[in-house]
Amino acid sequence: MSKSLQAIRGMNDILPEQTPLWRYFEATVASLLDGYGYRQIRMPIVEATELFKRSIGEVTDIVEKEMYTFDDRNGDSLTLRPEGTASCVRAVLEHGITGGGQVQKLWYQGPMFRHERPQKGRYRQFHQIGVEVFNLDGPDIDAELILLTWRLWGELGLRDVVTLELNSLGSSEARVRYREALVAFLSARLELLDEDSKRRLTSNPLRILDSKVPETQALLTDAPKLADYLDEASRVHFEGLKARLDAAGIPYVINPKLVRGLDYYCKTVFEWVTDQLGAQGTVCAGGRYDGLVEQMGGKPTAGVGFAMGIERLVLLLESLERVPAALSRQIDVYFCAFGEAAELAALALSETLRDQLPHMRLQVNAGGGSFKSQLKKADKSAALFALVVGDNELAERVVGFKPLRGQGEQQNIAWDALPAHLAANLNQV
Ligand code: ATP
Ligand code: MG
Repeated sequence: MSKSLQAIRGMNDILPEQTPLWRYFEATVASLLDGYGYRQIRMPIVEATELFKRSIGEVTDIVEKEMYTFDDRNGDSLTLRPEGTASCVRAVLEHGITGGGQVQKLWYQGPMFRHERPQKGRYRQFHQIGVEVFNLDGPDIDAELILLTWRLWGELGLRDVVTLELNSLGSSEARVRYREALVAFLSARLELLDEDSKRRLTSNPLRILDSKVPETQALLTDAPKLADYLDEASRVHFEGLKARLDAAGIPYVINPKLVRGLDYYCKTVFEWVTDQLGAQGTVCAGGRYDGLVEQMGGKPTAGVGFAMGIERLVLLLESLERVPAALSRQIDVYFCAFGEAAELAALALSETLRDQLPHMRLQVNAGGGSFKSQLKKADKSAALFALVVGDNELAERVVGFKPLRGQGEQQNIAWDALPAHLAANLNQV
């Protein structure tokens, strides 16, 4: 196929073999969030470029080099959303649903776009499920967010492969003071810094803390520590969060170098990381952003949230072979019919069955074929049972009920008795 007709690099089709796992993952998260009282919000995929510049910050990786930005036909600069928090804040402000201190516990899901170097676990279109909470400023809600992700890892069977990393960034004033101390320390050792970090020293010095360059990391050992600059309120908040995690028995490690890439965070930041995916080890990340709503033109409003990367979690489930076995079967019953009269009867019967057993996954053979070839298709479909109707069955008003996975012998079932018979048999598996 000509290259111009292929998918854009880093943007993937999710094929029918993969969608059952995606749907299972998405449904598991959705029902978990329902259980904690979170409500779904859906935002557009395209927003004004200004929104992301203002919220994420001009000197972050995302805004500097990762956004898909273009002018539309009116000449307005638009951007494919690189993340969901900015859009979500815009939406709650636009609709006034956080006014007067109203608490909102929201979640969203969908594609995000970043022009990064594609590799395993890193794509240009990827998918997130994100959660944002407004107007709750205590450590209890930070703890709830972490608790619900911990429950999710439990449901997915991933608790043993993820670690919670935690840090506090303090208030923006505390960060300004820390920033000055860090810049002073590093400026005195400028010749030892790598090029990237030199550049960041003036633009976004806190990002130097998570530099991957070993020499820079060595240099940082003696650098001033963010924890020593925390304001009293942030310190108390962080202690409150840790006490709750301890009480709930959730293990965590404090990572004093965890700063997150976005400008808007304050106080709590956290990441769930795994060592099972190579360099792309963060599967879920978030934190508190109490200043963001005001920065975007609203009243002061506390905010906290996280986003998880669906691709990375799906990869993790696949690579550890922790995909639930039930997902490999997408059809329960395969209906074979031979001859025109039998086909008509099968069609009517199958619709009656769908009325009575709405959860049964029934595939009616299409395209005719011999007795043998239809049963072959039934077998290949991974269905548990085949139903068979030919001239004889038609005359006797019965259906051949054929277990396909060694669950007993074929038998004839009267049409009237078929729904109950199927229900009983499908219940056993
Ligand atoms: P990373 O450090 O891996 O670049 P990030 O800090 O840029 O991640 P966030 O903006 O916090 O990521 O997004 C939250 C989550 O979304 C990440 O933890 C990850 O699981 C997922 N994610 C981010 N960027 C990508 C991407 N390009 N491809 C796939 N998943 C991604
Ligand atoms: Mg990134």
